[in-house]
Amino acid sequence: MSVRELIVSKIKDGTVIDHIPSGRALDVLKVLRISGSENFRIAIVMNVESSKLNKKDIVKIEGRFLSKDETDIIALIAPTATINIIKNFEVVEKRKVSTPRVISGLIKCPNVTCITKHEGIETTFEVLSAGLRARCIYCNTELSYPEFVELILKQLGPKK
Ligand SMILES: [Zn+2]
Repeated sequence: MSVRELIVSKIKDGTVIDHIPSGRALDVLKVLRISGSENFRIAIVMNVESSKLNKKDIVKIEGRFLSKDETDIIALIAPTATINIIKNFEVVEKRKVSTPRVISGLIKCPNVTCITKHEGIETTFEVLSAGLRARCIYCNTELSYPEFVELILKQLGPKK
């Protein structure tokens, strides 16, 4: 099967998240709280050739539209992503995500001695290398990508 055949099949209504850094499609679904048991039809394409990124992942979700908040969360872990909202087979909205330089108040610092644990100070992380890592500006604790995703998931709480 060619790459074209693999990725081209269209959805009627829903969301296409394209240009996800390769290997992160499953994390994108996780932060959207989609496990596959919700009955949406989902296509996940991983590690396909991309002119922009060398390799990329694509996620298509039929019957599900993303909110602004969900777009912002995706920006944290997939800064290159483009989000297309599809209605009746047409792209009705294109969103480009933008990764913030700092993240305030979203995730907790894992360092138990960090001042943000004790003084009622809002946590602030500097985003390093376009969503690959983040660093606490108070104690310099650096989060690797998997830790970062885990803390985001923890903050989002159990699925509603
Ligand atoms: Zn800290």
